[in-house]
Amino acid sequence: MQLTKRQEAILNIVKGEGPITGEQIAERLSLTRATLRPDLAILTMAGLLEARPRVGYYFSGKSPNQVVAERLRRVLVGEVMSRPVVVREDCTAHDAIVTIFLEDCGTLFVADENAFLQGVVSRKDFLKVALGGRDLQKVPVGVIMTRMPNIAVAYPDETAWKAAKNLVAHEVDALPVVQRAARPDGSEGLQVVGRFSKTNVTRLFVEMGEGK
Ligand code: ADP
Repeated sequence: MQLTKRQEAILNIVKGEGPITGEQIAERLSLTRATLRPDLAILTMAGLLEARPRVGYYFSGKSPNQVVAERLRRVLVGEVMSRPVVVREDCTAHDAIVTIFLEDCGTLFVADENAFLQGVVSRKDFLKVALGGRDLQKVPVGVIMTRMPNIAVAYPDETAWKAAKNLVAHEVDALPVVQRAARPDGSEGLQVVGRFSKTNVTRLFVEMGEGK
């Protein structure tokens, strides 16, 4: 976060003398309280200063980067995820590639008739099959997908920051967003409810850059 000279001067005064009222800060800077109002609002909204009625402004003790980090870590996967694009295990590689184009996504999730996650298949998996010269009309996604339990997943109520770290750690483009649920036979499985991809992270990055 880039501060103006005046905002930096305000921060320094509050650091040295806080808690201090807006009136007193204005006096130190030989400005009117009204002139300072927008700067005080920005510094307070940014989390660098805190204001208490009848006490005044005091320094929050946080650096601008800490404030951004805290804000980022409040965003949950469920708030930024996309709709999942799901195919069945017996879908052919050819039809799955068509789905990738139609749905404009890079990763498909493979699930059973009750939406329980079975696997993930990415563009690279299809490239591998194509390079191997196999008949895309005959190969089902079930034989080329990465299969459970070797799937990195995300949950709607975990932070987008943690899920993004998992994208990096597992070197993948997308994570299925899942919820735990009981299968018809009573066993526990992971039901697909969303898609968290590098695009969601990029969008979040852009929105935060715009101060949203
Ligand atoms: P990148 O383009 O970063 O190499 P991909 O998303 O193309 O990553 O995936 C690479 C490999 O990892 C593929 O074989 C794919 O099946 C597998 N994969 C993709 N997403 C996941 C995931 N969430 N968990 C586990 N494996 C995955």
